[in-house]
Amino acid sequence: MVQFDRKLRFRCSRCGRCCSGALGRVALELYPSDIEALKNYGYEDFYYTDDKGRLRMMNGEHGSCIFYRGHLCGLMLDHGFFPWNCQVYPLRCVEMKDFFLIEINPHAVDSCPGIGKGWQIKDTLLPELVRGIVSIKVMKDPRALPMDIALSLANVYWG
Ligand code: SF4
Ligand code: SF4
Repeated sequence: MVQFDRKLRFRCSRCGRCCSGALGRVALELYPSDIEALKNYGYEDFYYTDDKGRLRMMNGEHGSCIFYRGHLCGLMLDHGFFPWNCQVYPLRCVEMKDFFLIEINPHAVDSCPGIGKGWQIKDTLLPELVRGIVSIKVMKDPRALPMDIALSLANVYWG
């Protein structure tokens, strides 16, 4: 189920607040393809498994992401790569009992200066997030299914 204003727009201003801990950041959830990509870039010791078995990015100083560098993402700077959850921010997916809830990350609602600008989220980030959710359900990895297959499997409705 999708729950946000259909007309809502977003364009990242690259302020870095979501990566710096300024928005009350919790450790970023990673997926196997994220881990594999980062290992292929030569990184080690950047993640851990939490008590629910989820893969998490380590935080650095002051709660910022360990790849946050000079107000920018070090992974994007060095490799042109975002972990999947960074790619779909400020959307997030919450797994409920019988469905997945797609919403704006509450940390971003009043604090992300990119919200309200740019292209409509339903046309840009939402398809990617839906693809990821279907892929996670089917293959445990948000980058695993091609977009057209994932969207044809998705049962999306607005709440
Ligand atoms: S807080 Fe919003 S505008 Fe700033 S870097 Fe994060 S996503 Fe972009
Ligand atoms: S990986 Fe990059 S975009 Fe994602 S939280 Fe870390 S610094 Fe920010």
